[in-house]
Amino acid sequence: MRWPFDNTFVRDLGWLGVRVDPVPVSAPELLALNEDLAVELGLDPAALRSPDGVAVLAGNALAEGSEPIAQAYAGHQFGQLTPVLGDGRAHLLGEVVDTHGRRRDIALKGSGRTPFSRAGDGRAVMGPVLREYLVAEFMYAADVPTTRALAAVATGEQVLRERRLPGAVLTRVAASHLRVGTLVLIATRGSREQLADAVEHVRERHYPDLPPHDPMALLSAVVERQARLVARWMSLGFIHGVMNTDNMTLSGETIDYGPCAFLDAYDPQTFFSSVDAMGRYRYCAQPSMAMWGLARLAECLLPLADGEPDALMTQAQERVEAFTGIYEQEWLDAFRLKLGLVRVGSEDRELVEDLLVIAKEEALDFTGLFRDLARVLRREPTPTLDRVTDVPRWETWRQRWLGRLEGEGKPTGSSAEIMDETNPIHIPRNHLVEEALAAAHAGDLAPFEQLLEVLNSPFVQQEGQERYAEPADPDFTHGYVTY
Ligand code: AMP
Ligand code: MG
Ligand code: MG
Repeated sequence: MRWPFDNTFVRDLGWLGVRVDPVPVSAPELLALNEDLAVELGLDPAALRSPDGVAVLAGNALAEGSEPIAQAYAGHQFGQLTPVLGDGRAHLLGEVVDTHGRRRDIALKGSGRTPFSRAGDGRAVMGPVLREYLVAEFMYAADVPTTRALAAVATGEQVLRERRLPGAVLTRVAASHLRVGTLVLIATRGSREQLADAVEHVRERHYPDLPPHDPMALLSAVVERQARLVARWMSLGFIHGVMNTDNMTLSGETIDYGPCAFLDAYDPQTFFSSVDAMGRYRYCAQPSMAMWGLARLAECLLPLADGEPDALMTQAQERVEAFTGIYEQEWLDAFRLKLGLVRVGSEDRELVEDLLVIAKEEALDFTGLFRDLARVLRREPTPTLDRVTDVPRWETWRQRWLGRLEGEGKPTGSSAEIMDETNPIHIPRNHLVEEALAAAHAGDLAPFEQLLEVLNSPFVQQEGQERYAEPADPDFTHGYVTY
């Protein structure tokens, strides 16, 4: 099977990784294939479903033209620098230029040991592989920049974690796998020339409109994309869970859906990850944590900039701090739209913040609340808002909001439509994801497939799919932990 690979990373930056093949698995079986994405990549879905195709997706065979490489990178993990991390269980197979002319990485995750595996087994468990598949595809459908899932293949092998669990391999598609941690590794261990080459590769690939050899311009561009990205996360109640610098892309795509989860009841302090004992990456900390990671990026880029060191330092700091202004604006625009507001009003921030105070104090389901607002306009039942106990406070807010909507000068029906295109009815609710993964572990893929179908159209109310819009039992959420 020939894939249309054109591998610029291996060609330009091959020294930034180790050429190593995936490790075959005993009994590969296709769990899921993203046919639309396959077509977009110029691949034939039928060929991918064939035994030869599945062999490639399992790492048992190499497609012609692939040059598998485990990339090296560093990473600040929960604030501490790990000088060398790298792909311990992933292989970049190669790059293709898709039907829209965009260059995309195709990589396997869970595809066996590499020189970066340390004590790890190089494998992935089926549950997290399918979670990444579901959440990535939801994020794509909700218009959040993200890596995507092309396929999931069961390995037929068991993986030893706290107990024995079925293994799987994910095929991940990304604008690239270049991370903040990629440049951290070169800046700390490589030569100035290597750093300059890598930065130029990043610019050409992700920021071709920027002038070459202007590291401060590149810094600003990455800051802007990350600020926009995190604002999108916040508007959907997404908690990434492990925003280490090795999990921050330079392209501005969300990557690494390991311990991610979504808010149920609105509480900005929420976090779920078992490895994040201090809640470093809690919902409300995500903007400042992104900025912290971007400050590490600035440190890498500084040595490439021309100028007087103190002045450069100040300039880099300003460019990182510009995150706040961009983020605040994006956040407000996103939440304004969630309220059906398109025009800019001076009282909008307060209006949003006051709603979030009510949401927090009443422990309202974040997704359900915003979906209900359009129902208020249409005089339909509002299951989330019906739980409000301080009714006078809610009424006061509602009147302010309706007054503000009047200023938009358009029929409420069209505001409600805007809101329904902005506020998903379906998100990968933690309990639904867990339910689908448990069934898949037991050999039943139907719940996974149904949930995936719902998440592929997150803004559309689907007949007979009402249970997918309901929040979890609070008991589930209180004890919920991700790994
Ligand atoms: P993550 O927290 O998923 O970003 O992973 C951090 C690092 O651990 C990366 O370098 C991974 O490649 C590596 N890693 C995670 N799980 C395994 C595993 N089972 N075997 C080998 N390396 C792993
Ligand atoms: Mg990672
Ligand atoms: Mg991970």
